[in-house]
Amino acid sequence: MLNLITRELEKRPLFAVFDRDGTLVPITDDPLAAMVSAELKANLRKLAATKNTKVAVLSARGLRHLSQDFSGDGLILAGNYGLEILFPDKRAFIQPKAKASREMLSKARLRFQSELPQDVNVILEDHELSLCLHWHRTPPARREEVHASARRLKKEMPELSFRALPTSYEVLPNVLWTKADGMTQIASMCEINGTEPLYVYAGDSEYDEPAFRWVNERQGISVKIGKAEQTEAQFCLDSPASLAGLIEKLIHLRVLS
Ligand SMILES: [Mg+2]
Repeated sequence: MLNLITRELEKRPLFAVFDRDGTLVPITDDPLAAMVSAELKANLRKLAATKNTKVAVLSARGLRHLSQDFSGDGLILAGNYGLEILFPDKRAFIQPKAKASREMLSKARLRFQSELPQDVNVILEDHELSLCLHWHRTPPARREEVHASARRLKKEMPELSFRALPTSYEVLPNVLWTKADGMTQIASMCEINGTEPLYVYAGDSEYDEPAFRWVNERQGISVKIGKAEQTEAQFCLDSPASLAGLIEKLIHLRVLS
């Protein structure tokens, strides 16, 4: 992979985009414990500051959270799969239908809070344009309460989309939108004149697959973090630590070029 990147970077600018959880940082039991290390932050900042390079984080987390992680680091921050984007020069994007769903999302949050007593032990993350209700800590005997509550709200709130993940529900605006749309939106708001950049995208889950395809269609480099199974990514790295190593190599390549 590195040889290919080295060769391409002699001719093309670099546009590197990273998913956050499971990609830049390992997944943790409590999402709040998945912190970005100071060293990784510094390296992303360094990479973004090299010539002819743009760096973005494209995450399911909300923009507010990403801004706490990376503010002032010169990165493009795309939250909620790119439904909201903030550029280092403060230009911002928010998908209009998603914006209009804010009120309904906040209603859904209040309903979950009132319907699920504390001993059900869910973690409810509010990403502003989406909610994530984690139930992996819920005692098995109480899990049906969580599922029933999600089913009820889904029926009552057709403006929202309820996605059942292995141990959580994700509640999103009912907008057809994937990380590929996030990539298109980010690229459309960047000054790309002349040569098409070398897009590099790293992600770890099925929700990164549309971005892998987007990058592949543009002769970029797609990198899956984790197992090389059921993926359209061209390359695999075993862990966020390996990706951190690749980021360091990219800095060296950019500094040399
Ligand atoms: Mg991820």
